[in-house]
Amino acid sequence: MAEIRDFVDLSLIAIDPACVMKVPAEFALKRSVLPLCMVDGDFIVAMADPSEVKTIAALRGALGVPVIAKQADPESLNEYLLKLYGSVQSIREDSARDDAVSTVDYLIRSAFIRHASDIHFDPGRDGMRVRFRIDGELEDITNIPPDLQPPVISRLKVLANLKLDERRAPQDGAFTWRVPDAFSDDVTDLDVRLATLPGRYGERVTLRLLETSTKRYTTDALGFSDEHRSVFEGVLASPHGLVLLTGPTGSGKTTTLYAAIQHLLELRPLNIITVENPVEYEIPGIFQSEVDYADRVNFSKALRSILRHDPDVIMIGEIRDGESLDTAVKAALTGHLVLSTLHTNDAVNAVTRLTNMGLERHLAAATLRLSVAQRLARALCPYCREPYDVTVQEAALCGIPELEGETVYRPHGCLYCAGRGLKGRTGLFEFFKPDAAISSAIASGASESEIADMRRARGESTLFEDGLSKCLAGITTLKEVHRVAGVF
Ligand SMILES: [Zn+2]
Repeated sequence: MAEIRDFVDLSLIAIDPACVMKVPAEFALKRSVLPLCMVDGDFIVAMADPSEVKTIAALRGALGVPVIAKQADPESLNEYLLKLYGSVQSIREDSARDDAVSTVDYLIRSAFIRHASDIHFDPGRDGMRVRFRIDGELEDITNIPPDLQPPVISRLKVLANLKLDERRAPQDGAFTWRVPDAFSDDVTDLDVRLATLPGRYGERVTLRLLETSTKRYTTDALGFSDEHRSVFEGVLASPHGLVLLTGPTGSGKTTTLYAAIQHLLELRPLNIITVENPVEYEIPGIFQSEVDYADRVNFSKALRSILRHDPDVIMIGEIRDGESLDTAVKAALTGHLVLSTLHTNDAVNAVTRLTNMGLERHLAAATLRLSVAQRLARALCPYCREPYDVTVQEAALCGIPELEGETVYRPHGCLYCAGRGLKGRTGLFEFFKPDAAISSAIASGASESEIADMRRARGESTLFEDGLSKCLAGITTLKEVHRVAGVF
C-alpha cells in the first residue's frame, strides 16, 4: 500500500486531543501510533514505521475514516506517547486503579499540550461534556459517561482539597500539576485553579491552567505594528505618567502589561512593584503582590503602602474604584510610571471612564501618557493559509469599496495547526497618545467625540483598521477582525 510516508517533526505540529481520545491508550502505546489530527477528512497519525499496514488497517476499521500515517522519529514519538497517555506502567496500574484518575490525568496533560487556558466539565442528562478553551475559543474534547461522572468530579475535588460531601454550595481551590518535559529533564509546574458550581445534573467544574514557570513576554510577540511598537516603547521610557490598557476580559491586556514590564527590566535597573489578583505569571526581578480586589479597603491600603517602598514603576492589575484611581494618579504625578488596565470600549473612552470615576479633568490630562485599546484575533496558520481576492460583498461589509480584489487569506488546516487552519492569536490595537493640544482639550472639558475627532485628525488607526492591515499581511482573517473589532 502506497501510504504517504513523509516525515513529521513532532515538536512543530499541533496534536488534536479529540483525535487522541478516539484511540485507546493501550492500542496507541502497544503499536506506537500517535494520533495527530483530522485534515480534509483524513485521520493523520504518526508512526515509527508507516509501512506497518496492519496497524493502519485496524485503525481505519475502528474509526471508519481514511487513515494516513506519517513517519516520526521513534524516540520523540515514544516521548509524546508517554506524555499523552502516561507510562505503560501507569496504564497497567490503571486497570486496577480508578478510571477516573487516568481520565483526569489524561485531560490535564492534553490541555497542557494544546496550550488550553481552561478545562470545562459540564454535567448534562447524558453524561459530562468536556471542553477546552484554546486561543479563546471553546473546543469539544470528549463526553464522560454518566457512571464515570461522580468519580471524575470527586477526583478533581480531591486534587484541589475541596470538601467531597459538599455538593450544594460552590467551592474553589487550587493545586499544582507537574508536567515533565518530553525533551529534557525539566519539569513545568502548572498552577491549576478549580471552581465548582452545583447544577441540575451535578456539579460543574472549571479548571483554569496557569503556567507558573517563568514565561517571557516580549513586545515583539504581541502583534504590534512597527509604528505602535516604537510609540509603546517610547512611552515606557518616560519616567512618570499613566499608561492604560483597555478592553474586555480576555483581550490580552495583562499579557501586554507583562511584556511592558519585561521591556522595562531590559532598559535599566528599576524597582518595579505590582498589585495583582491573581499573579498570573511570575517575573523574576520584580516584586509581585497579590490582593483581593473585592476587598476595596485592603486593595487601596496595599497600593498606598507600595508607595512607601520607593518604586519606579507600579503595575496595578486593574483600576476598579475611585480610591485606587486616586492613589494611582497621585503616584503618576509624583515621579512614578503607573501601568494599569481599564474596562472600556475604545482608547479615547478611557478619559470618560477616568472622569466618571471621579478624576478631575486637569489631572487626567496631566497624567495620561497613553491609552491602548486591545483585542485578540485568532491567527492564521502560516503553513496552510490560502490566498484569495476580497469580494465586492466583503469590501462593502468593511465599508471600504476599494478593498475589492486585494489579496487576503483564509484558513485551511494542516498538521501544524491540528487541522484547524488557525493557530495562536495576534493583538489588534488602537493607540491614543494625547499630544499637547489634545491634553489641553481634555483639561478644558472637550467631549469624547471631540477628542476622538482630534485623534483621528492625527491619522491614528482604529482597532478595525489595524485588523485590516493584519488581514492584508496574512496574519489573520477578515472574519476574525469582524468578530473581535467589527464596526457593524
Ligand atoms: Zn495549518
